[in-house]
Amino acid sequence: MFAVTILGNNSALPTLERHPTAQIVTCNDQLILVDCGEGTQLQFARYKIRRSRLRYIFISHLHGDHYFGLIGLLNSLSLLGRQDPLTVFAPPELEPILQLQLQCSGTILQFELQFVPLMAENQGVILEDKDLTVSFFPVKHRIPCYGFSFEMQKRKRKIIPDQAKAYEIPAAYFSKLQQGADYLRKDGLLVKNDWITLPPPRGKKYVYFADTAFDEELIPYGQDADLVYHETTYLHNLAERAADRYHSTTVQAATLALKANAHRLIVGHFSSKYTDLTPFEAECREVFPNSGLALEGATYII
Ligand SMILES: [Zn+2]
Repeated sequence: MFAVTILGNNSALPTLERHPTAQIVTCNDQLILVDCGEGTQLQFARYKIRRSRLRYIFISHLHGDHYFGLIGLLNSLSLLGRQDPLTVFAPPELEPILQLQLQCSGTILQFELQFVPLMAENQGVILEDKDLTVSFFPVKHRIPCYGFSFEMQKRKRKIIPDQAKAYEIPAAYFSKLQQGADYLRKDGLLVKNDWITLPPPRGKKYVYFADTAFDEELIPYGQDADLVYHETTYLHNLAERAADRYHSTTVQAATLALKANAHRLIVGHFSSKYTDLTPFEAECREVFPNSGLALEGATYII
């Protein structure tokens, strides 16, 4: 299972219907929280997200609508008895901010909280765990801000049953075959791995572009992605305002998805001034047909 569930799709101000940015990436049995706007823990409850499976948190940047929900969530996890460690990947200033909040309230979390700083000079792979690889890259925003690329690889080679049988490979050896090992038979024949297995199937890629102005230089990060999330704070008639505020429009997000040869695009981070979101979808689809809104509570299979 590799999917993303939207918990918040609004920018800046929360509204009664839409929440600030937060998403859950599900990678088999592990959950990853991507940004944590105010009220995210209530969205966990509303959409029945299993907190116990939360393993990693990625915070793209320190505008409040992307992290103001974090201290509340951490506090609640501790009250609920969490003991498993939790790792937060974020701009380095987040650690002292949280530590001060915990210290001033005399809160001692009941689980280990680890921090991994995100800094532009270290961009690239930041996490490899089981089938998941996460890398980060700087985007174009008013303060340091990072996009994330989540890739789920199937690392195991695929056994061709007829061939394995023909070469009389014992089933007990199959897990070694999946890892690429050759097999030496008792009669001395060395059975080469590629005679009896196929390479692992292609991995899947989800790219989260966080908050960013449109920038052609970002296109390679979305290259051939199965799913891209890009912000569309504004409709295209406000392109100038978007550029001034380091945000993007519908047409810009769709252009990036198109040029990156992505398979599918979802858009979010809508300005609170919009109540009807249908024009966002329509404008994106004119440029990139496989576009849709990132709707709260919806899960998109990657
Ligand atoms: Zn921002």
